[in-house]
Amino acid sequence: MAIKVQGHVINGEHKAQQSSAYIDVINPANGEIVAQTTAGTAEEVDKAVAAAKAAFPGWRSTPASERAALIARIALVLGANLEELIELECSCTGILASRMASFDVPALMQIIQTFAENLEDYPFVEYPPVRTLPEAHDVKVFKEPLGVCGLISPWNAPLFVTFVKMIPALAAGNTVVIKPSESSSVAIVRVAELLQSILPPGVVNVVTGYGREAGAALVAHPDVAKISFTGSTNTGRMIQRTAADTMKRVTLELGGKGAGIALPDAPIELTARGATFAFLFHAGQVCISGTRLFIHESIHDQLVARMVELAAALKPGSQFDPQTTLAPMAFKTHYDRVMGYIDSAKEQGATLVCGGEPMVVPDAPESLFIQPTIFTDVTDDMRIYREEIFGPVLSVIKYSDVDDAIRMANDSCYGLSAGVWSGDPIAAQSIARQLEAGTVWVNEWHALTGDVSFGGMKQSGYGREINMASIESYLESKTYLTSF
Ligand code: NAD
Repeated sequence: MAIKVQGHVINGEHKAQQSSAYIDVINPANGEIVAQTTAGTAEEVDKAVAAAKAAFPGWRSTPASERAALIARIALVLGANLEELIELECSCTGILASRMASFDVPALMQIIQTFAENLEDYPFVEYPPVRTLPEAHDVKVFKEPLGVCGLISPWNAPLFVTFVKMIPALAAGNTVVIKPSESSSVAIVRVAELLQSILPPGVVNVVTGYGREAGAALVAHPDVAKISFTGSTNTGRMIQRTAADTMKRVTLELGGKGAGIALPDAPIELTARGATFAFLFHAGQVCISGTRLFIHESIHDQLVARMVELAAALKPGSQFDPQTTLAPMAFKTHYDRVMGYIDSAKEQGATLVCGGEPMVVPDAPESLFIQPTIFTDVTDDMRIYREEIFGPVLSVIKYSDVDDAIRMANDSCYGLSAGVWSGDPIAAQSIARQLEAGTVWVNEWHALTGDVSFGGMKQSGYGREINMASIESYLESKTYLTSF
């Protein structure tokens, strides 16, 4: 594949900025440079925001029915270019093409469809019943777009996360400046380029580059009304602080440390398969991964033994080979970080029952695979118990009393995902209600649907995304009273 050189998409044009440096994007499955993207500056962010600001009056006054029709056309543009987009997304991030086809693409198409189908009926004007005003009044509530929205996304699901933000923002009548992760902007820039054929210039802009420069400039920009951010809790904290200066609206989708509880009656094979998938989907580089598993002592050894068999069967390789079932770490510094967590667990006395080493792929020595790794005897003072690793590493904790398991599952600053494995739906639901997480599964993991909202509790962030209701976080209410 030839090296793709990309710039920003600003005001309908895609061009590399002369002043900018380039960032190499490396395929983590083989170590080859596949693209170079522009390291955007604050001045370039300023241009993109100015373009989005200029486009806002026209876009907000476009009737909702027309915006809905244009959103429907986005699905057609994606569909017509799917092969190219999947190739770009996967080669730059290590995401398996099979995952894109089975999860990311259907999920983002469902989001587009939901908004395209329901936007025209959305109550942009509400007529609340009025009881307390002395004279006859006409009272309405207008739901109005915010203006320019900054959308900042991470590297683990670049296209999906961008669409989760962009579609409701556009549906509400806002214009957007997208700042993708420095290591995964390639497919997003291509999408933005393609969308220029159907959207007015300036409605969708992309500035690529580092978070500390382009991202920070977007968050601080006085003409940006809202930041929707998905990424780590530490960055989210910085964004919240900076956004306070200009009182920007903020949605924060942050890190996680998903806890699953396997009850004594958990079906062994289903639980083993589900809990293995929970921590190894995209090699654990997913915010909702199930990375702590509390197993009742009566089934602990049997369940762990079966999970070790399943985890060891995963195959590294090219992300385009249908036989590949394990993704690489997305880039070298992240690979080093995950290996650091594995070393810390060994030093802190956890028992390694499988994995724990780099995985060497014979014809790709520069690849960044790590063996699926399971530690038992993990205790609450260990780093792997508390911190988000974002790699193929599971902490197993044996328990005897279910109330202890619930307490330990909730003993985390995060609150994004959790799960219960059980043969008893009533008991499972009762425990699920006690778990502090925005999404709780029973006897499955990672299932999501565009029909319900998604988001975090505690330091996993706030705000809800994905379903039609997420449009509300891109709108503001204006109360209108008249005595005519
Ligand atoms: P990150 O926080 O390092 O970066 C995320 C984005 O923020 C990138 O585009 C980056 O360039 C930008 N950024 C960095 N510093 C910035 C700053 N000072 N100002 C503005 N922007 C800045 O996260 P990451 O490593 O790209 O992604 C992994 C993290 O994302 C994990 O913690 C994961 O749990 C989280 N995540 C959460 C969800 C969710 O829905 N809750 C989904 C996916 C990933």
